[in-house]
Amino acid sequence: MSILVTGGAGYIGSTVVRELVRQGEDVVVFDNLSQGHRRAVAEEATLVVGDLRDADAIQSVFRTHDIDAVMHFASHTLVGESMSEPFLYLDTNIRCGLNLMKAALEHGADRFILSSTANLFGLPDEMPITEETTIDPGSPYGESKRVLERYLYWLDRTRGMTFAALRYFNAAGAAGPNHGEDHDPETHLIPIVLEVALGQREEIVIFGDDYDTPDGTCVRDYIHVLDLAQAHILALRALEDGTSRVYNLGNGNGYSVREVIETARTVTGRDIPARIGERRPGDPAKLIADAGRIRGELGWDPEYPALADIISTAWKWHVNHPDGYDSVDARPA
Ligand code: UDP
Repeated sequence: MSILVTGGAGYIGSTVVRELVRQGEDVVVFDNLSQGHRRAVAEEATLVVGDLRDADAIQSVFRTHDIDAVMHFASHTLVGESMSEPFLYLDTNIRCGLNLMKAALEHGADRFILSSTANLFGLPDEMPITEETTIDPGSPYGESKRVLERYLYWLDRTRGMTFAALRYFNAAGAAGPNHGEDHDPETHLIPIVLEVALGQREEIVIFGDDYDTPDGTCVRDYIHVLDLAQAHILALRALEDGTSRVYNLGNGNGYSVREVIETARTVTGRDIPARIGERRPGDPAKLIADAGRIRGELGWDPEYPALADIISTAWKWHVNHPDGYDSVDARPA
């Protein structure tokens, strides 16, 4: 099978690409390298540098390669940024997704996996969050994913597109000591905490300690990036039966920001200074997944559910590559 992976040079996308090529799949990565890294892309995959805002560029990928299925990771993905830059999300994210869906259908690629998000559930009316929980996005980011999920729903009904929307809770950890998370600027909790442990930052600022949670800091469900990758591969195989599906992906365990920092202190053995700051706009107090549906239907069984293991894999990557992919051996051009 030939699979197009947009955003395949990014953190989660490149991890899925590695797993796909390991399983012998033919992979084409389409990435504008604005957030991704050439060196993160498995050598066995074909890398096309291009931008989804350019409808002709993505059409040409489908003309050149015989694509069967699409995995769409390329996206702006930051809740906080989406509150200050809504059009990057309400316009760009949606337009890029639509350009991709149109090109895919025009060229007969009728299987589609969408990276979606727990931010679909801004103020959840139940916890843990199931696929039946009311969708009410917490930010323009969540809204952009809701719209793309709805477009896929209609393309399934009108054009025979079969899709899986995978709602990630908090992706974390590293796929290996030479393959991890490298954002610029970094905004995510675990890598920032580890940069403090490495002495690259002075402190971690906790965004608010007056939430309605046991210790007042936000609670999230952290999931290892390799477990996310397995879920994508299971979902891709499942689409062969022609049934579209949505799944929540998390471990069902909630950890507060304070607990993450404390676990990182234990894992790294380093002092990690922390102080309380203002709340970050758009942050819900608590997001914990009920992933019972994908476990039951596809047999998904996370290998790294423990927070200490997740942080420990990320720590190995950060220690080996304090400057991220700049210090990874170059991928052949
Ligand atoms: N967070 C924090 N300080 C930081 C970065 C994040 O307190 O420097 C908090 C953030 O408010 C959220 C949690 O850590 O409650 C996880 O944030 P992250 O950005 O990693 O993921 P998100 O939940 O936004 O997808």
